[in-house]
Amino acid sequence: MKSSPNNYVEHFMARLIEKNPAQPEFHQAVLEVLTSISDYLEENPHYINSGIIDRIIEPERIIIFRVPWLNDVGKIVINRGFRIEMNSAIGPYKGGLRFHPSVNLGILKFLAFEQVFKNSLTTLPLGGGKGGSDFDPKGKSENEVMRFCQSFMTELYRHIGQNTDIPAGDIGVGGREIGFLFGQYKRIKNEFTGVLTGKGINWGGSLIRPEATGYGNVYFAEEMLKTKGDSIKGKEVLISGSGNVAQFAAEKVIELGGKVLTMSDSDGYILDKEGIDAKKLKFIMNLKNKHRGRIKEYAEKFKILFHPKARPWAEKGQIALPCATQNEMNKDEAEQLIKNGCICVSEGANMPCTPDAIDIFIDNQILYGPGKAANAGGVAVSGFEMSQDSMRITWTRKEVDAQLKKIMKHIHQTCAKYGTKPGGFVNYMDGANIGGFVKVADTMLDQGAV
Ligand code: GLU
Repeated sequence: MKSSPNNYVEHFMARLIEKNPAQPEFHQAVLEVLTSISDYLEENPHYINSGIIDRIIEPERIIIFRVPWLNDVGKIVINRGFRIEMNSAIGPYKGGLRFHPSVNLGILKFLAFEQVFKNSLTTLPLGGGKGGSDFDPKGKSENEVMRFCQSFMTELYRHIGQNTDIPAGDIGVGGREIGFLFGQYKRIKNEFTGVLTGKGINWGGSLIRPEATGYGNVYFAEEMLKTKGDSIKGKEVLISGSGNVAQFAAEKVIELGGKVLTMSDSDGYILDKEGIDAKKLKFIMNLKNKHRGRIKEYAEKFKILFHPKARPWAEKGQIALPCATQNEMNKDEAEQLIKNGCICVSEGANMPCTPDAIDIFIDNQILYGPGKAANAGGVAVSGFEMSQDSMRITWTRKEVDAQLKKIMKHIHQTCAKYGTKPGGFVNYMDGANIGGFVKVADTMLDQGAV
């Protein structure tokens, strides 16, 4: 990094932290992008001169609201609801809703910020946003989840719309929650429009949307491996998480001939040395999506080891797919992965690797695909869902999957275009950050003081 933008980044971060205290994940996400694009900013000073960086880190709008709901014993419970409308330069705000007790303003701002660059990389006309609540769906009855979703939408509906802001799922928000939210929106507005994505297939959803983030992540890993004349076939794969992204990443790895060794949840991880095959994966899907059980039940059923309160990164595998949550892999774990022969890390979750873990990957020149590139398949197919809703038509599985593959390939090309270093090493993080930034920044310049 050269001196002047480096100083610029330092000063900028000091101001950002002062103005947005107690938002460490947001600071982390901004610092990563600024560091990646600093050389590019020096070569193209008009971005700084026209205040693009000051503008791009400031959400266009933040909505925070009370969500009162009645629990099963008749008590009123209060949660906090959020929607961060981050950037609408290239399209309506688009991004998921997260229901998890850890949700706060800083976490949603980091996610909304990442979403802006991710959505830009997809090539689709999607701005960036994110929302959610500190509501914890764990241990809640179906009726409690429904009453919560209805109350959440009773406030959110006035801020969103198919041409304004289109939420979707994220951690704690899957098909069931999207159904409850959509039902309430439709009642209040008396209209049937594609205001949410991740909808059921009978009511405006797209085929392949549930699979898209996980499949896309594996397609991205496959593209990275291809540059080394390699592939997933025959590789041992460590996956964290057991939610939507992890499940379909595992499904695609199995289909492509890889061996999935691990999956996890917040209680710990399972290590299945024989490999989690398609049949065992069905058990996990059923366990997680229907019974809402814990991953240790897999260990009990298939008589393998459960590692409580631990993450799978000390195990031996050539590919790692972190698909759980932010900052789930640290420097020591990254070093251990490399020691154990890992050659490729593709992020299914948003910002799962800490900055010093990423440094380890880049210093060792392994294939490292950052989430905003590697997990963009989910929001890309959300974009296709919006197109199908607008046209009142449906595409086949084959069509959507082919389009998803094409987009992941394109994102890989964009990363290589902006991230190839002298000597040929591709820094996918820099590539994704610069590639995502340019389209949004140039558009903001076109649109004047926005
Ligand atoms: N929550 C997903 C993400 O992090 C999907 C967002 C969407 O489909 O709008 O990209």
